[in-house]
Amino acid sequence: MITIFGSDLSRVEPFLKVMVFLIFGLPVLMIELVIGLSCRDRMKSKGYANCNSWFFIGFFLSFIGLIICLCMPDKGSPMPPGPGFEQYVNPPVHDRQMQVQCPQCGAMNPTGSNFCNGCGNKLN
Ligand SMILES: [Zn+2]
Repeated sequence: MITIFGSDLSRVEPFLKVMVFLIFGLPVLMIELVIGLSCRDRMKSKGYANCNSWFFIGFFLSFIGLIICLCMPDKGSPMPPGPGFEQYVNPPVHDRQMQVQCPQCGAMNPTGSNFCNGCGNKLN
């Protein structure tokens, strides 16, 4: 018979099991819930329809599910693209590179033109 501090362990065991569950089980369960919810929100923001199934993927696979969610490509949200996206598609630097500013009047002229469109000043 195993005894701890003079008491019978077989009698304490059910209490210990509950304690172990409360100390280790509940925080893990809470972490899984948080991961599942963050997975669902992430997939929702990426435009995926079945968000609730992604909650269970995050819940059961834990961090692996979260990594899968992070790696999933964007499905394209119905929201219009931001100014950053527009700049990427049509960069304003490109337009400036294709034009030459007149040193006399400041008018923008296409690259390669010999005379200014604004004042007729000779370019280059
Ligand atoms: Zn000019």
